[in-house]
Formats: sequence, structure tokens, C-alpha cells
Amino acid sequence: MRDLRISVTDRCNFRCPYCMPREMFGPDFAFLPHAQLLTNEEFARVAAAFARAGVTKLRITGGEPLIREDLPELLERFRKIPGIRDLSLTTNGWFLAERASALVAAGLRRINVSVDALSDAIFRKMNGRGFPVARVLEGIEAARTAGLSVKINMVVQRGVNESEVLPMARHFRERGITLRFIEYMDVGNANGWQREHVVPAREILRLISTEYPLEPLDPNYRGEVATRYRYVGTDTEIGVISSISEPFCRDCHRARLSADGKIFTCLFASSGTDVKTPLRDGISDTELDTFIRDLWSGRRDRYSEERAENAEAAAQHRKVEMSYIGG
Ligand code: SAM
Ligand code: SF4
Repeated sequence: MRDLRISVTDRCNFRCPYCMPREMFGPDFAFLPHAQLLTNEEFARVAAAFARAGVTKLRITGGEPLIREDLPELLERFRKIPGIRDLSLTTNGWFLAERASALVAAGLRRINVSVDALSDAIFRKMNGRGFPVARVLEGIEAARTAGLSVKINMVVQRGVNESEVLPMARHFRERGITLRFIEYMDVGNANGWQREHVVPAREILRLISTEYPLEPLDPNYRGEVATRYRYVGTDTEIGVISSISEPFCRDCHRARLSADGKIFTCLFASSGTDVKTPLRDGISDTELDTFIRDLWSGRRDRYSEERAENAEAAAQHRKVEMSYIGG
């Protein structure tokens, strides 16, 4: 175990149809009540226990983490945990322009911003709220000016935004910003995922190579999720995350913590293990360490490989939603 993703909220101001479709996450949707969320102190305590068990990388996600007013305070706590060498955050970028400098002041150095299209019409459709892309692009510029290193995430969906692959590649290549293409995944049960909607990573690479030759790069470490390439003759990289076409379960070293204190050992799990109750019942740090180690060593998850082996069985599998578990 090297990597922990912490979902700090299940709420979001966007309604991307592939993640939180409006029909399901409407005005009556029951988001987690405040009392059920871990407190900042509890988040930090669990993260510290994960760090003692080997985790060196923390990624803050959600829902949309920037909707939390107290995010800088939480980031400061995470940054101070011994053993954490890399703290990063994934955001839809909407609040970035106004909050980037506070994030830097809290010690954040790196963020990933999700941008699925440069075409305003496609972007408005893909966030489910009709929000314009210009504000997110301004947020990215503000983040860079404030000193954050930025990568972009783009989920590619057949018939929705595949026409944006090349324009996105051109735009971010010119600015020297790493763009990572993510295969559309069957996370949760709400998004009506079908394999036909997936644009495989090799097709994305082929398309980009028609305009810009690419050279493969060695992984930075075993189990790196993105397969990396460089535009020939530049220092600018792209990455592809091919969890559908080339599952990487056997090298996965990632755990997840939900905002209400459930630990998940797989993005596609149907249930998590509650750590909030033991925390509130007074578990000691030593007991917490054993709790986490036992959970990890008992792990058998390999959903993406199973999906590749038996699509029908995989389709019956109930999974938690990505906005809850954290993407
Ligand atoms: N709200 C933040 C954001 O959008 O960046 C953080 C949470 S979001 C769940 C994290 C990442 O998961 C985003 O890059 C998003 O595009 C991606 N994501 C959500 N649903 C997905 C799906 N069905 N397949 C692939 N990626 C997905
Ligand atoms: Fe919100 Fe991110 Fe999910 Fe879009 S992908 S609905 S921005 S949590």
C-alpha cells in the first residue's frame, strides 16, 4: 500500500452525467449529513495511520473538495503527517481562481484539474449544469500563477467528447501542461455505462500520433496508473489511464477513505469497512495500525481483471458511486 485517496465530501456543484447524473443526484438526494463526516482531526488521524502502514502519497478528492471552506486547514494537517511525501488534489476547477493562493499557503504544490472539453457547448453538457469552460481555464491559469503544478484529467466518452481529444492535446501541449486521458469507467451504477462508450487508450494515442509523434516513457514506479508518453522533441507529456482496456489490478497499491470514514480497498467495491465507529469508541493508535494492516493484507480485489474475464458477471456487481468513494 503506497497511495491513499481521501474523499473529503460527497457533494459537488457539477452534475457530470458519467459521475453524478442529475436524474439521480437531484434536489432531494440525501447527501451525508455533517455529523456523519469525519472531523478534520479524525481524517488526519486515519491518514497518519495509513502513513505508518506505508502510504507516502495522499490525494484529496470527492465530490468536489474545493466546496469545503475549511480545506486549507485540512491540507495543513495532511501535509504535516510524517512519511507523506506527496500531497495532491483533484478538482473540477470551478473555484480555483479564487482559492488557488490559499491552497498554496496551506502547503499544496500539485493539483489535477478535470477538463473534458474546450468546446464550450460540449463542456456545458458534460458538467450537467451548463457551466462555461472559460472559468475553469482561468482557474488553471490562476493556479499556475500561484505556483501550483497542474495536470489535466480528461474522461473520453464515445460520441460525447472524442472530437475534443486533438483540440485538448494541442491546447495543453502548447502550454507545456500534462494531459491525462481516462477511459470512461463503469464506476457506480448510476451512469448507465456501456462498453461501446469507451474510447480505448490505444485509439486515443493513435489519433494524437497523426498530428504529434509520441515516444513512450518508463514508469516512474511500479503500479503507476497512467502510462506516459512524451511529444517527440519536447518535455511535455501525456498519460493514458486504461483501466478498461488494460486492467492493472495486480499492481494496484491504492486504498480509499470516504468522507464518512469507510475504507475501500478497490474503486469498484460494493462496501467499505467502517473506521469512524472504532475511532469514536476510543481505538488506540496501535489498534488502529493493526486494523489497517489486517484490512490490507486480507484484500482480494481485482474487479477490473474480472470485468475483462467475464463481462456479464461484472455487470451484476453492485458498486459504490465515485462521487462518494472519491475518484
Ligand atoms: N470533482 C473533482 C473532479 O471532477 O476532478 C474530484 C472528484 S472526481 C470523482 C475525480 C475524477 O474522476 C475526475 O477526473 C473525473 O473526471 C473522474 N471520473 C468520474 N467519473 C468517471 C467515470 N465514470 N469514468 C472515468 N473517470 C471518471
Ligand atoms: Fe463532480 Fe467531479 Fe463527479 Fe463531475 S466528476 S460530478 S465534478 S465529482
